[in-house]
This record gives sequence, structure tokens and C-alpha cells, in this order.
Amino acid sequence: MTAITGINTAYGSKLERLGVRTVRDLLLYFPRRHQDFGSVMPIAWIRPGMRTTVRGRVYQVQRQFTPRKHMRIAKATISDDSGQLNVIWFNQPYIANYLHEGDQIFVAGEVDLNGGLLMKNPEYEKVSDDPSHSARIVPIYPETKGLTSRWLRPKIRPLLWLADQLEEVLPAELMQRRGFMSRPDAIRQVHFPDSLEILDDARSRFGFEEMFLNQVAVQQAKRARKAHAAHQIPFDKATARAFVAALPFKLTNAQRTAAWQILQDIARPEPMNRLLEGDVGSGKTVVAAMAIHHVAHVGLQSMLLAPTEILARQHAEVVEALLRPFGIVVGMLLGSTPAAARRALLASLADGSIDLLVGTHALIEEDVRFKQLALAVVDEQHRFGVVQRLSVRQGERWPHFLSMTATPIPRTLGLTLFGDLDISVLTEMPPGRLPVATRLVPPDERSAAYDFIRQQVVAGRQVFVICPVIQESDKLGVRSATQEAEKLQREVFPELAPRIALLHGRMKAAEKEGVMLKFQGGEVAILVSTSVVEVGIDIPNATVMMIEGAERFGLAQLHQFRGRIGRGVHESTCLLFTDMEDAETIRRLNAVVTHHSGFDLAEIDLKLRGMGELHGFRQHGNEFKMANLLDAALISDAQAEAVRLLDRDPTLAGEPALRRQLSAYRRVFALD
Ligand code: ADP
Ligand code: MG
Repeated sequence: MTAITGINTAYGSKLERLGVRTVRDLLLYFPRRHQDFGSVMPIAWIRPGMRTTVRGRVYQVQRQFTPRKHMRIAKATISDDSGQLNVIWFNQPYIANYLHEGDQIFVAGEVDLNGGLLMKNPEYEKVSDDPSHSARIVPIYPETKGLTSRWLRPKIRPLLWLADQLEEVLPAELMQRRGFMSRPDAIRQVHFPDSLEILDDARSRFGFEEMFLNQVAVQQAKRARKAHAAHQIPFDKATARAFVAALPFKLTNAQRTAAWQILQDIARPEPMNRLLEGDVGSGKTVVAAMAIHHVAHVGLQSMLLAPTEILARQHAEVVEALLRPFGIVVGMLLGSTPAAARRALLASLADGSIDLLVGTHALIEEDVRFKQLALAVVDEQHRFGVVQRLSVRQGERWPHFLSMTATPIPRTLGLTLFGDLDISVLTEMPPGRLPVATRLVPPDERSAAYDFIRQQVVAGRQVFVICPVIQESDKLGVRSATQEAEKLQREVFPELAPRIALLHGRMKAAEKEGVMLKFQGGEVAILVSTSVVEVGIDIPNATVMMIEGAERFGLAQLHQFRGRIGRGVHESTCLLFTDMEDAETIRRLNAVVTHHSGFDLAEIDLKLRGMGELHGFRQHGNEFKMANLLDAALISDAQAEAVRLLDRDPTLAGEPALRRQLSAYRRVFALD
């Protein structure tokens, strides 16, 4: 990178941190958005409420500090022939050094009225001879410390002609039929567009390209899977009936449908790849157990993988109780299983005398060998990563694969990121579950909330308190689990101090398990925790979920926290706290109060805040920069084109550029 004029080692390494190592990377480092400095409005014409661009001369620049709000601000007054405008920037004091009296600048932003016309935190740009920032539509790049758009623009612009060197990845026939802009042109237009319309065309070309790559990769994975053999487990009505008859309850319709879909899948010669999705408490375990039962019935083996030891123990206990009446042998393998016991377990696994092995990561170690593994069930698989998921496939035949999650996946995402998965959704809850009352608690009712919590504990119930960070220093002003635990012990509930415990991700696994066991046993009454507590632990006696700094969590994640309670016979309450008072935060959090479906909440979050907020998918956010993941038409278009191409050219022999792009893509997605 440093071979390029104007990029020294320091900047080179900053770029590298953004993943930019080559000219190619730089050309493909796309702007997040654009600012139109091309159409400028005279100051006399602007009105409060407008979003607009102004060009004028700086005639007063000041730097100030507001002691009360601890903010450093830069202020300037700008004038053109028609009037003057005040501008203010918060927490960007360096602007006061960058601008000088007499400078000609552009500012763009929303106009306010505050003793005169005022723009707060506008985009700004010195009028210069440099064509990268002059009066035109300029790119705004995703900025990280020390790398500004202002710095990037003149570096990228002279390199744009090199875009011609980048190969086209979309098939020529498709390009022509859909009339897409060529890749080099689209790259140039995405950085420095000639007009907003052309920018739109360029962006939608790349949006399509991203989605198309995804769909080709997904369709290839699907074809590869279907080409593999699996153990066929014939559907047997009597076996299914016997399982259902032995249950202490009646299956919900949703459970019955899901079980039926799964039993159909495992009867097929190719491996199942199904996701069983359902809110916490919707009863996924019993559905999985029904499939395990079917597998054991024909003498084949299953495994059930859980993300933590506590959950593995819980699963082993629950599933064993369901399967014991049928003489099905359940083993459990954990990281903490002693060596001798482990050896014995592995021996019974290899000779087929264990029908189901339940456990944690310990299950996917190299030397764990089944006699005939036909079904792998994974609870909350996205916590394991896809790579591990693949390594559970043993031997010549692939096991059927079932993953279970409480993370609601919006429908369009189900078609993209998880396009090779068939999805079953448990849309209803078992009957008799008490709904969890949810409240957004105003700051002045905090002590009343504490009184309520005290009453609950005195009545024998248990309480979760969730905080966004571990320690105060992590993020200024955000409530931390460590401090809150101390505060509750010292100030709020001194009488309960010994029964208040802390749980967070930096504790050792054994420590965490210890605390969870004490909470499960009732010894701990108030568990102050970070989000680590979220995975499916069942504490029926817990009736209060208090969440601090609720605005810092995704809505679907808040819903998952809420799912930790309301699992027993007592009425439960979820209390949301926030120190933010802006209308948008309040409106967003209120969605959790009014919506009781994790799916709805996930969709709302996807709309309001994008992928980043969808818990569990953060790592995928980067793969789609231009494509709108809520755009169902785009997805189905891209999918149709992918299928069409693979039907015509299954090995992509005629598309070398696309093949190269895909192999990079698959690495990122761990599809290989
Ligand atoms: P999750 O989907 O969160 O994993 P579980 O499988 O742990 O849910 O089930 C939650 C609880 O609901 C368990 O105690 C289970 O026995 C119970 N349950 C499951 N299905 C039903 C049903 N159809 N009727 C009544 N209770 C059920
Ligand atoms: Mg579960």
C-alpha cells in the first residue's frame, strides 16, 4: 500500500486495519454514503428544518468548552452574499484548528433556528482546487480513527482508472440480459458519481452482485449436501405414536408440524439440514427428542450438542427422562468428564451401546467416534461457529443435521445467510404459560422497582439483573455488572448481600458454572450478570428480569432475556431501565413492551438499526454493504439467477472470475 504516493507506513497500517492491503482493496473500499455538495443554496433561501448545502466564507472560528456537559465544541460563522449562518460542532474541537477566517467552505446538514440560523454537526469541506472534494457529490467513507474521507478521497480518485484491471464477476449473459453497468464503471461511479441516478444504478449493481454471490455459494452448498448419502430412518407411525403417548403433555400443533417435517427429512437418502426455530420455552427439546427416538429405534446413534456444561446437563436430564421408558441409553460427555469415565464412554459409543451422546464442545473432539452417527442436534449452533458444525460430520455418510435456536431470524435472512437450511418454526407456546409483564421503568420509579424486587425475593422468588458491560471503565457512564452488584449488596439490599452474585464473561468457565449452579439451586437470589446469561438455562423460580442500559441491547436480545423468566408457575415481570431520555430510544424500547414475538422484534431492529443489532449475525454484517437484506425481491431475483446459472454450468467451468470470487467468499462464510 505504501507504494502509492501519499501513503506512508503509518497510514498504510491504518488501512491494513480496515482490511485494505492492495489497490484492489482500496478500489473496493466503498463509501458508506455521499454528500451532495453539488447543489448549493444561498443562505437567504434556507429555512429551519431544511437539509441543504451552503457555500460561504468563514469569518469567525472559536473553540469552547461547556463545563456542564463536558463537551468541547467548535463554533463558526459563515457568510455568503445573501446572509449568514452559525455552525456548531460538538466533540470535534480539531475543526477549530482546521478552519481559518477567510476560508471558503461547504457545510451540509439540517438547519435549525436558535437565535438565528444554525447548523449542528454539519458535514464540512473546504472549497479547494482538488477535484476530489470540490463542488460535487463526494463520497463519505466509513471512518475509523485517523482515516478521514478527506484523506481517502484524493488517494482513491487518481487510482480509479485502474478499476479497468478488475475482472467482471457476473456472467456476461446475465449482465447483458439485466443491463447492468460494467464493474469498472460501477466502481468509479460508486466513489465519485456523475449524478445521484447513476450512483443508484452503480449501487444496485453491487447490491445484486453481493446477493448473487451469496446465492450461488448457498445453492452450491445445497447441491453438495444433497449429493451426499445419509442414513435413511424410515418414518414409523407406531414409533411416533408410542413417543407421543409417553409424554406428560400434549404436543402443540407447531411442535407436531415441526416433528413431522423432521421425520420426513431423516427418512430421505440425503442429509437433512434443518433449523428448528422457536422462542424460548416453545418446546424445541421435545421435538428433537422425538427424532432421536426414531433414530434409536432403528439402532442408530444421535448426538446432542449444547453450548455450556449446565445446558448439556439440563438437556441430558430432560431428554433421558423422555427416552428412558423406551430403553434408550443416554451418555454425557463434558470437558470436565474424568479421563477414566471418558474412556469407558468412548468405548460404549464406538460399540454402539450408547444411543445418544449429550455434551458440549467435548463431543466434537477428534477421538470421539460413533459406531453409526445418524443424527446431530445442536442447540444454539451459531455460538459454535459453522466450522465446528461441519466437523461433526463423520464417516462416509453425513449425519442428518438439526440445529435449534431461539434467535428469531427474519424471513429474508433465512433465505440468504441460511439459504441452505430448511426452517421449521414453533409459532406457538405450550398452553398455560403465564405471559411476562414488561415495563419500561422511568428513572424516578427505580426505588419502587427495588421494593418490588425485595418483595419477590422475600416471597422466595429469584431475580436476574442484566447490565451491558462488565466494568464501569469499559464505557463511560454505562452501568456495569461489577458496580451494580456492589451497589445492590451495599446500598440497596444489604440484608440480602450474601445472596447476590455476579456473573460475567471474563470469569473462568468453572467459576461461571459454580455461580449458575448456586442460582439454579436457589442459594443465590439475585444474579447480576452481563449478557452471558442469555443461553437457554431453565430457572422456573426466577420471576424478575431487570435490565439496565436496555437501549444498548438489540430488541430481539431483550426478548431473549425476557424469555429467561416466566418459566414456572409464578407471575413474572421484566423491567427495562434506560438512562437515555430521547424519544427514539423510548419508542424503540417500547416495542419490547408491546410486542411479544421475537420475530417481530428482530424485524423491527433490522429495519431500525441494521444487521449489527441482530444478535448472533454481527459477523455477517460486512458481507452485505450494498444489498438490502430486507429486500425480498432482490433475494429471489438473485436466487433465480444462481439456480439458472448452476443448472446451465454446474461446475462454473465457464466463469473463472466468479469461481475465484466465490472461494474468497466461502472462506468468509465458512461454507467450505
Ligand atoms: P426451548 O424451546 O426454550 O428449548 P424447552 O424445550 O426447554 O423449550 O421447553 C420448555 C418447557 O416446556 C419444558 O419444561 C418442557 O417440558 C415444556 N413443554 C414442551 N412442550 C410442551 C407442551 N406441548 N405442553 C406443555 N409443556 C411443554
Ligand atoms: Mg432449549
